[in-house]
Amino acid sequence: MKRIFTTLFLAATCFASTAQEFDENAAKYAKSITAGELKEHLYIIASDEFEGRETGKKGQKMAMEYLIKNFKSFGIKPIDKYEFTQPFDLIEQTTTNISLTVGNETYTVLKDFSISPSIIQKQKIENDIIVIGYGIEEGKYNNYKDLDVKGKAVFIMDGLPKKTELEKEWSLKEKIDLAKEKGAVLIVYNSPKLKDNLVKYEHYYSKPKLVLKQDLKADETIIIAATSKLTEQMLTQAGMKWKRVEKKGMNENNLEKLSFKLDIDKPTQYLKSENVLAFIPGTEKPEEVVVLTAHYDHIGVEGDKVFNGADDDGTGTVTMLEIAQAFQQAVADSMGPKRSILIMPVSGEEKGLLGSKYYSNNPIFPLENTVANLNVDMIGRYDENHEEGDNYVYLIGSDKLSSELHEVSEKVNDLYSKIELDYTFNDENDPNRFYYRSDHYNFAKNNVPVIFYFSGVHEDYHKETDTVEKIDYEKTERIARLVFLTAWELANREEKIKLD
Ligand SMILES: [Zn+2]
Repeated sequence: MKRIFTTLFLAATCFASTAQEFDENAAKYAKSITAGELKEHLYIIASDEFEGRETGKKGQKMAMEYLIKNFKSFGIKPIDKYEFTQPFDLIEQTTTNISLTVGNETYTVLKDFSISPSIIQKQKIENDIIVIGYGIEEGKYNNYKDLDVKGKAVFIMDGLPKKTELEKEWSLKEKIDLAKEKGAVLIVYNSPKLKDNLVKYEHYYSKPKLVLKQDLKADETIIIAATSKLTEQMLTQAGMKWKRVEKKGMNENNLEKLSFKLDIDKPTQYLKSENVLAFIPGTEKPEEVVVLTAHYDHIGVEGDKVFNGADDDGTGTVTMLEIAQAFQQAVADSMGPKRSILIMPVSGEEKGLLGSKYYSNNPIFPLENTVANLNVDMIGRYDENHEEGDNYVYLIGSDKLSSELHEVSEKVNDLYSKIELDYTFNDENDPNRFYYRSDHYNFAKNNVPVIFYFSGVHEDYHKETDTVEKIDYEKTERIARLVFLTAWELANREEKIKLD
């Protein structure tokens, strides 16, 4: 039965025109993606046993093993030297063991000040700090006049001078960049909101931070945000009146020096994590690759709470499994895609899109030949703008780099899926900025066209209550099929989609 079916449609594809038409094969393999199988996989990877799949930790490794085991069982072959993973090194630090002394006072990190970058090598800085006013240099207004801050620590005042007209509005970032340019090794600025933020986002600040080992720079400028209390005491010691500065602004440089001691010895851990690779070589244009991603990591455990991440991004992860199986089934029937497909569950997303960043910096297949990235992150629930049962998905990014990608995506949906495609979050001005918040962004910033599939946040987002029984598997199936069908079209159409 299968054989006859195959030959029949092999003939059919030979006559396929370039216009997008209903493709029986695409529809047939899409049907192999089922709610039942998605559910089966999700109940495993989002179970407590997987400990919230935290990057670099045991649960993530278990999820990786599970993915590889399944990809192998589908008959997918490893990529030569990679086998089924692209490993990368990470550095993890917590923000403790930092002591700061200004003049004769000592201050506490995450109470009196915050510090960046998030990963800093062990070091001691003993220096004078120079109070340089607002840190602005333009036309008539110049805080750096007759001042050499190379190798020095500087204090920059937040805001803008009260009485002087400036040529432009200087942002804090511009002021910091200028101080870096001038060679300051340490920049302190006052942050009036810091005290409240340290309380409000205590959890975020105290959480361990991770970076890619290859991103660690030896001589990054250290930046300290100071609470009003620290600022006041510092300026007072420098002989300035804080109340006056607060009211009238700081118009002159204060060349009084203040001794400054910073001792950093943050607890450091070296971790390894992995992107998982399921590669399906194309039959006609194997060098052109469609990349599908979903992050299989989540945020781990906290005490006895397990963050299962069933929706985030368990749904995307199991979608990758089902899509890989569907394509591999096509391969087995000699109906494999013309272009290659790389199905890549990535890790490190919750720590800052690290796995996809590593891939885009170290691509296995050149990004110039990467046709598109379809990224799936949270597709199993309903957000507050929709009711249970609504047939919708948010699409983000589809028209940003290639209008052809957008057309393909719409047409595929019209032909097969008929899901309401909601572009609310595709708006450049949307405050949620979802375009920048999942793994597709690391492809988009390298000029690879992307589509991000997403069904919105819900009350269990990033809580231990994001669990498997709350997922709508039929909905997940519909969106997973749409992603598969779009990938199928991108891989099989005559011409590669164009950037415009
Ligand atoms: Zn996510």
